[in-house]
Amino acid sequence: MGSMFLLEEKERNTVKQCCFASMYKRVDGQVMKRLEEIVEGRIICDPERMRDYAGDEFADPSIRKIPEVVVQPKSTEEISQILKLANLEKIPVTPRGGGTGLCGGCIPLYGGVVLSLEEMNSVLEIDKENMMAVVEAGLTLTDFYGKVEEAQLFFPPHPGEEGAQFGGLVNTNASGARAVKYGGIRNYIKGLEVVLPQGEIVTTGGKYMKQSSGYSLLNLIIGSEGTLGVVTKVVINLLPKPQAMYTLIVPYDSLDRAIETVPEIRNKVIPMAVEFIEHDVIPPTEELLGKNWPIKAKAYLMIIVDGASDEEVFSVFETIGDICLKHGAAIKSVDELSIADTPKRQRDVLEIRSNIYSAIKKGLIEILDITVPPAKIAQYVSRVHEISEKHSMWLPNYGHAGDGNVHTHIMKVGITDGKLDEIEIEGWKDKYPVVRAELHEAAKRFGGMVSGEHGIGLVKMEYLPKFIDSIQIKLMKGIKRLFDPNNVLNPGKIF
Ligand SMILES: Cc1cc2nc3c(=O)[nH]c(=O)nc-3n(C[C@H](O)[C@H](O)[C@H](O)COP(=O)(O)OP(=O)(O)OC[C@H]3O[C@@H](n4cnc5c(N)ncnc54)[C@H](O)[C@@H]3O)c2cc1C
Repeated sequence: MGSMFLLEEKERNTVKQCCFASMYKRVDGQVMKRLEEIVEGRIICDPERMRDYAGDEFADPSIRKIPEVVVQPKSTEEISQILKLANLEKIPVTPRGGGTGLCGGCIPLYGGVVLSLEEMNSVLEIDKENMMAVVEAGLTLTDFYGKVEEAQLFFPPHPGEEGAQFGGLVNTNASGARAVKYGGIRNYIKGLEVVLPQGEIVTTGGKYMKQSSGYSLLNLIIGSEGTLGVVTKVVINLLPKPQAMYTLIVPYDSLDRAIETVPEIRNKVIPMAVEFIEHDVIPPTEELLGKNWPIKAKAYLMIIVDGASDEEVFSVFETIGDICLKHGAAIKSVDELSIADTPKRQRDVLEIRSNIYSAIKKGLIEILDITVPPAKIAQYVSRVHEISEKHSMWLPNYGHAGDGNVHTHIMKVGITDGKLDEIEIEGWKDKYPVVRAELHEAAKRFGGMVSGEHGIGLVKMEYLPKFIDSIQIKLMKGIKRLFDPNNVLNPGKIF
């Protein structure tokens, strides 16, 4: 990409890679043979095919690294043997899920082995009596939602990319729009089977709703970004399926006004999701999908409410409608509210919201994942607008207004008449690190945190010490050393 920040980071990484390179051995013929035996031939070592395992969804294609070998184990025992071998030979191992991460977490920075969980993708059990599911870590969200639906149960978290696997979801503590009412993945993970870096297999937690039995290793593994262990099985808590769920779109003449409405909504009712969207990003998404957003205004709140009946949901919409009117929504009365009240309309608006990222991706440098206290979003977004104007860079925002998680997109192109410009903004490579730093400074000033749901991975390491004090970083590094004394599991991530 060539931005100063990433050049510096890349240079630093090159230095780090040289130091670590001397620490790690390469995958030689003997190790390759042993790996082949362990996974019974399910390995990839053709560089062309390994390109698919070199990076994730982070936009910069230069932040990639082709591994020395990709292995596709089919059992926990095979993973244990791989990690024992890696420790003995001092070879780095990078766990990989769906590769949908947005911060380079699954990039095999020092080469070595990519451990892809894609072959471990079964639903092992849906236990209706205990309302729990047990799944293998390579199961994707799409496949899981299908099984849960069949069982007439409900798994609330809905991160925007359904190709993500449970191993990745657990390791990033993924979240998504529905966190306002239901919280993130952490709230639903009750047990894990994990292979530790030296090959021991442990089970932490289980099919119980409560536990007060020593330190919670379960919660330590959740969000550890593949640095403490390889997750192989996951016990997931399920809920009864809501009988009614509808989506409301509220138009506004200004984004600030839309966001300012949110604290009062949260004080009165608990919607499932409250998303804010600036209109700019809608036309390219409509064009991509060939679908129409139901209304036109400068900005929108998209509010999803679920409940036991239609009546309950519509009565919550009335309360919300009154609050929106009071805060200057661009409607004359609650009757003008646009409700996606058929499954098709509901699907269309949700599809448009989910595809904004794909529609603007070709002009994207980076999607940030800053989270601020919910009542500070309006101030944070106002500051984003000032930074955008100061540097003449398009910084569209959308995100989880209900929980303070703002996805500001740093773009290398502008937008004219609803279409992304073909020509890149002059000087974007110099502007990018400055804009990035100013956005993080603003987040810090408003009491925020660098990442709400995507994790730190490779690309946000720079910012973690700016948000978390050195005592906590020291404790985290100590935990990493205790779990992984030879630093073979996903080295070079988080710190
Ligand atoms: C369009 C789009 C929308 C998105 N929307 C959201 C959203 O709303 N909310 C949200 O939270 N995220 C979102 N994401 C980010 C991404 O989907 C999540 O971070 C997801 O959890 C990554 O899962 P994955 O299986 O793809 O993991 P990967 O990208 O493969 O890996 C992520 C991390 O987990 C580790 N890992 C993977 N599997 C294992 C395992 N079995 N054991 C140990 N470590 C493992 C990797 O080493 C890496 O550090 C979005 C991404 C895209 C592209």
